[in-house]
Amino acid sequence: MKDTVVKPRRLESYLAGAWRTGAGEGSPIANAATGEVHALIGTDGLDFKGALEWGRSVGGAALRKMTIHDRALMLKALGLKLLDMRDEFYAENYATGATRKDGWPDVDGGIGTMLTFASKARRELPNVKVLAEGPVEPLSADGSFVGQHILSPMEGVAIHINAYNFPVWGMLEKIAPSLIAGMPCVVKPASQTAYLTELVVRRMLETGLLPEGALQIVTGSAGDMLDHVTEQDVVTFTGSATTGRMLRTKSAIVNNSVRFTMEADSLNASILGADAGPGTPEFDLFVREAAREMTTKAGQRCTAIRRIVVPKAHEQAVIEAISARLQQVPVGLPQDESTRMGALVSLSDRDGVREKIRQLQEDAEIVCGSLEDVRLTTGDASAGAFMNPVLLHCADPMRAENVHSIEAFGPVATVMGYEDAAQAVEIARMGRGSLVSSLFTNDTDITAEIVGGLATFHGRVLVGNRETAKSSTGHGSPLAALIHGGPGRAGGGEEMGGIRGVKHFMQRTAVQGSPRMLSAITGQWIEGAETRADIHPFRKSLAELRIGDQIVTAARQVSKDDVEHFANFTGDTFYAHMDSAAAKANPFFDDRVAHGYLIVSFAAGLFVEPNPGPVLANYGVDNLRFMTPVYFGDTLQVRLTCKEINPRAGGDYGEVRWDCRVTNQNDEVVAQYDVLTMVAKTWPLESAE
Ligand code: NAP
Repeated sequence: MKDTVVKPRRLESYLAGAWRTGAGEGSPIANAATGEVHALIGTDGLDFKGALEWGRSVGGAALRKMTIHDRALMLKALGLKLLDMRDEFYAENYATGATRKDGWPDVDGGIGTMLTFASKARRELPNVKVLAEGPVEPLSADGSFVGQHILSPMEGVAIHINAYNFPVWGMLEKIAPSLIAGMPCVVKPASQTAYLTELVVRRMLETGLLPEGALQIVTGSAGDMLDHVTEQDVVTFTGSATTGRMLRTKSAIVNNSVRFTMEADSLNASILGADAGPGTPEFDLFVREAAREMTTKAGQRCTAIRRIVVPKAHEQAVIEAISARLQQVPVGLPQDESTRMGALVSLSDRDGVREKIRQLQEDAEIVCGSLEDVRLTTGDASAGAFMNPVLLHCADPMRAENVHSIEAFGPVATVMGYEDAAQAVEIARMGRGSLVSSLFTNDTDITAEIVGGLATFHGRVLVGNRETAKSSTGHGSPLAALIHGGPGRAGGGEEMGGIRGVKHFMQRTAVQGSPRMLSAITGQWIEGAETRADIHPFRKSLAELRIGDQIVTAARQVSKDDVEHFANFTGDTFYAHMDSAAAKANPFFDDRVAHGYLIVSFAAGLFVEPNPGPVLANYGVDNLRFMTPVYFGDTLQVRLTCKEINPRAGGDYGEVRWDCRVTNQNDEVVAQYDVLTMVAKTWPLESAE
């Protein structure tokens, strides 16, 4: 049964297996739009050291018993449950000042990110507990001593400290890769909007899908928690650069070399290409994006455009076009359908933004909006943290300082002009490292020059033009498959980025030894490890198949007729197969050669077991290389070895990867590749009975 929500709600922390309330009444947190007390928060007296130990011993142990696919499926089930509960989250989200549309990247975006991780992990990673990474490295001439990188889940807790502006996405985008890696999480949302994160965690725990200890939440101050981190823990921080710098230098973090990722603020630039003057689709896209970035979530997004960098010739046109859009943005209560921009998160944050605008005015003048007046369609300007968007213009960006260093975390941006592409890049780089930059142009030369100059100072660069007008996800949206983070001022971190984000929560170890020993560690067959040849391995279901099961086939000679038949049959009459003189003139061949694809086809003909059996389908090959030319009269033989077995959780089959090596009569390898098949868990298939 769900809890009845009583306002103001006393928020609780879920620590060491129970919901716990801090001592005292708790500090009030106001609804951003109405000023009413929405929740009470506090963690006084709670035992953080014990919670971390609980996560490590109870949660970590449970997660490490599962395979990567088990954990991914768990997250998929959790994500699907959360989708059903979205309405409750959106309703709570209004208290943060965000409109329903603002909440979409947070609530739907967060759940979507979690589901993306769950799906990528099952598609791109094997169903194992210890992950082998990259190829086996030969370390001795005779192949008896080899090396392999392996990845194992860190045995501590992943502590995720988040900013107030994405109470759902901020948590889910971090716990998804950590849980898939096998690390338990302690989330610490920013106090100001922790009521929404707490609600989502409550609902997640109620599903019973997560093992005990896998997810804990600190709702309120983190107290002395970071004094108790150990060498196996990981800390990720999202928030202001000032807080991040303070936390990353905490003695327990420094002394224990604790992995610390920081996602801080940045002065993101959006550049208009010199070709994209008024009247072009790119000009319109640029203006729309700049205005949207300023007003979405009232500009409280770490990726929002803060600096609008335009050719000097178009400065005035850009200011007029953006101002016209900003003046039409209705500001008001977030739940009103007519509202396009809601409130900032708190009155004190609004005061902070106004103070930052004053500092920006040392370099720039306000050209749209004002510091004091608030025009609202609904709501009370004295109670809610409302403000109208403010656009500034900086006439001399090369000599300005504040516009490149002060982040007004609200609906605020500054237009600045550039002389040429090199100067546009220089201006963007004056932000000293940003999360994202965007460029709007339809010119490929401008794109190559500007993006080339931006890359080292940015974690992400978006190029917008007429071709992506409908499909682009926009300047401000980090994506699960791509990295989020930036160098320098932006914190120097990297999050998400698909599977690379998962690996951040694992320890990479270089293991050296004999192929037999390494194979035992990773569960993957490697060259030189033990093999077994009894019945044809294609006759074995997953219940019987073992890595190292092998077949060495009969031999087959390749004739001139074979090659000509294949050439005429397929239409591949490339001269190296057909014309002796031309083939000899080619630096790689001594005469006419067999087609590579003929070799692969003959190999299949040699290794398959033709009768219906547990091998259900061939779904491709990986890493195909042709290494030695095959001439007429050469003889081919195949050695096929079961390399990796991935039973699919929840299905009646699994993927099997076979090492396929084709050799000639001199034992030279002519082709090497992995054959990918689907194999039944049992045979006959249980579902067919
Ligand atoms: P903040 O004040 O720096 O706080 C960030 C987090 O740190 C909060 O959860 C805060 O908790 C926590 N914290 C503060 N002191 C701590 C301590 N001693 N021990 C442990 N945790 C501590 O930032 P904010 O005001 O919430 O967020 C706004 C800023 O975040 C902006 O500058 C924005 O650019 C940045 N941001 C960056 C990204 C990114 O991905 N790069 C994303 C979103 C926002 P309390 O709230 O309880 O103090």
